[in-house]
Amino acid sequence: MVGAQVEHVISILLVTLVSAAVVNAYQRDGLTGLRKKGEFIEAFKRRLPGRAKQGATALILVQIENWHALANSNKAIANRAMKDLATALLRAPVPHEMAARFEADAIILWKRCADDDAALKHHLELLQQRASECLAAKRLTAKIGAVRMGASADKAIRHVILATDRAALQASKIQICDAAFEAWLDMQARLKTRIETAVEQDLLVVLHQPIVDMISGKIAGTEALLRLRAEDGSFVSPVQFIPLAEQSGAIDEIGAHVLRTAARDNQMMRAAGLPSDLFISVNVAPPQIHAWSQLDAAVADALKSDTPLKLEVTESSAAQDESMHDKLVSLRDKGAKLAIDDFGTGYSSLERLGDMPFDTVKIDIAFTRKIATDAGFAMIDAIVRMATASGKDVIIEGIETAEQHALALKAGIRLGQGYHFGKPASVSDLITARAEGLPRQIRSHF
Ligand code: C2E
Ligand code: MG
Ligand code: MG
Repeated sequence: MVGAQVEHVISILLVTLVSAAVVNAYQRDGLTGLRKKGEFIEAFKRRLPGRAKQGATALILVQIENWHALANSNKAIANRAMKDLATALLRAPVPHEMAARFEADAIILWKRCADDDAALKHHLELLQQRASECLAAKRLTAKIGAVRMGASADKAIRHVILATDRAALQASKIQICDAAFEAWLDMQARLKTRIETAVEQDLLVVLHQPIVDMISGKIAGTEALLRLRAEDGSFVSPVQFIPLAEQSGAIDEIGAHVLRTAARDNQMMRAAGLPSDLFISVNVAPPQIHAWSQLDAAVADALKSDTPLKLEVTESSAAQDESMHDKLVSLRDKGAKLAIDDFGTGYSSLERLGDMPFDTVKIDIAFTRKIATDAGFAMIDAIVRMATASGKDVIIEGIETAEQHALALKAGIRLGQGYHFGKPASVSDLITARAEGLPRQIRSHF
């Protein structure tokens, strides 16, 4: 009888232990052992009101840049990087209230912190140092966003994500959600509203920058570069509004509009006597490719009118996933040429270049700026060799000086783009420049 009772107690204990383990495994991230996102948010909201009375805290998000591209090519190294990062961050001196794997590539920390921005900044710099110590060997970097608690839990989570996105643009890769950042968020909200109605209200302007044959000096094509007209009539840079259009989904309509305008402009330029095979390069954002139908239709329209169309896709988006790859191949099969933009700034390695469905490699301005150094020239030389060996042509971006022009030719590059040859201009200015012999740099290409 006693034996049966003991057995019963043991079986209850076992069930309890096993279910605790199952719950734990369910709530914990298998790789880092940290909480999962949903559980973190739920616990954060529950504990915040009580914790607020005991002193200041901050929410900190640490995100590995380009982690997904690395995970696509080497999951084991990407996972090791994430695990090392988790260990390094939890080792930091200020104890954390809670930590979680917030996204596949990001860890969130809720920590005690001093009540001023300077102390918080100092702490974030320490975390950044810890992160770079463990990521540098894998050629990875981290960006960090932080928000001091005070706002509601929902607002804090929203703002820490936005601050982390913004951190990518800072030299320190750190962004605190302070008064200046909040003012910037307000400005972004206004810009977002403007972007959403931009096509309808005719607020978009497509400029064209010459891409020239650097040997003959003749124009070979143009890149369509978009501008948004601000309330005061000035132009807003695409670097500011394209990410907002991507977030809101407005990019599909805007992207299709750019493609149609660019195709029409290309016809005008060719009709006005510019080379009959003048190509037009149009930038395409990853969400346009994912959403597909508007892009597909606009590309088909451009090709129907015999526009020599090149689509530029950034390196990191090209490396995103299988479906992206298949869609790029489908665009190419239709007759569009594909260029990999800003090459060298993402994570794809030179050896993978041959496998990618691209016709053209655009070398990023960051390399051009170093072309006059031995190491910089050697880098460009390696890219050119690799591209050429895999049957791709090369365009070098950001040529600003005669010296860079000469060195690009020495590296065997024929096509170049940059202020040395011509800044982005309206289609009518390009055509008039040809007719009237306006600025020397533009005139020399016709
Ligand atoms: P990108 O495609 O790499 O375009 C080249 C950028 O470098 C352009 O900036 C151009 O004006 C600038 N640039 C050209 N030559 C020089 C030079 O010699 N020196 C310097 N410092 N800069 C030079 P922009 O027009 O501000 O465009 C920035 C980025 O915005 C583009 O980079 C592209 O990624 C994106 N973008 C532009 N138009 C569109 C568009 O229609 N759709 C999408 N999705 N993205 C676009
Ligand atoms: Mg481009
Ligand atoms: Mg580029």
